[in-house]
Amino acid sequence: MIKLRMIIWNERNDLMSVYTLLVDQKTLDTMADFYQDYTVKTPSHAKFQAKITGCTITAYNSKKVVFQGKNAEQEITLWQALQQPVKQMKTKQVPHLTHFDNFDCIGCDESGVGDYFGPLTAACVYVPKQQTDKLKQLGIMDSKQMTDEYICKIAPTIMESCYHAITILPNEKYNQLQAKGINGHMMKALLHNQALQKLLNDQTFTFDYIIMDQFVNESTYYRYFKTLQISPITGLTFIPKAEGHSIAVAAASVLARYTYVKAMDKLASKYGKTLPKGASKTVDHFAAEIIHTHGESCLQIYAKVHFATTQKALELLK
Ligand code: MN
Repeated sequence: MIKLRMIIWNERNDLMSVYTLLVDQKTLDTMADFYQDYTVKTPSHAKFQAKITGCTITAYNSKKVVFQGKNAEQEITLWQALQQPVKQMKTKQVPHLTHFDNFDCIGCDESGVGDYFGPLTAACVYVPKQQTDKLKQLGIMDSKQMTDEYICKIAPTIMESCYHAITILPNEKYNQLQAKGINGHMMKALLHNQALQKLLNDQTFTFDYIIMDQFVNESTYYRYFKTLQISPITGLTFIPKAEGHSIAVAAASVLARYTYVKAMDKLASKYGKTLPKGASKTVDHFAAEIIHTHGESCLQIYAKVHFATTQKALELLK
């Protein structure tokens, strides 16, 4: 059940609460019955409008119901208890977020997005519910809150115990796609889709959810594939900051980061020196050093050249 809250000012400048609820047909019908003695003139596009003490309820045929007034919250609570969770309203939160760990989930996350040097990586991990506790005992959480050292320590255990798939977009390829007008979000979508295809092709298992750590909303994600004329894996559930809501996504974030760290090790041995992660003044100077020593084109194989870092590095050399 979704509850969106907005505070607006009414004519008397009192704070007034407005809640929107997306309900199923059964609940909508029950509501129409329940409020029939309180209905007032129905606004256009609405199914009915009712006025009770401290609350106006407007229901739409789209199954959206708006509760407005100082008793709105109290009123809406009644309906929340009645209804089973319904499909999410566009990109808004899915109900019962923390319950994902009670289901068999595939989690998806990526790494290397904000790092000037090194590839973009994506991982998806299948975590059936009976494996949740084992992974939690490893201390898996959002990879951004874990050191790279710890990530490298636990990633092999995740890989041994869970079905997973990983994709890497090397810098050269990244830069080529970027130059063709394929933006970072589209590349992430492509990488995730490839990883999911690999996982679902290679293994046979049943699952309840594919959870994507949301980087764009659902409709944008699928639009990318339309634009690129690729048919994607569908039925994904998009959750903002999903690492905190699903152990499968947290595990995917660890594998994606692990893959990025390992790729950076490889680039270091290729370059003969450790390349800095992230984007910072240190990174600007390092990029300047590469340009100075090997020429600007050398960045193509080590960096995401469209970052502002490239310009900053060129400035430093002037
Ligand atoms: Mn993420």
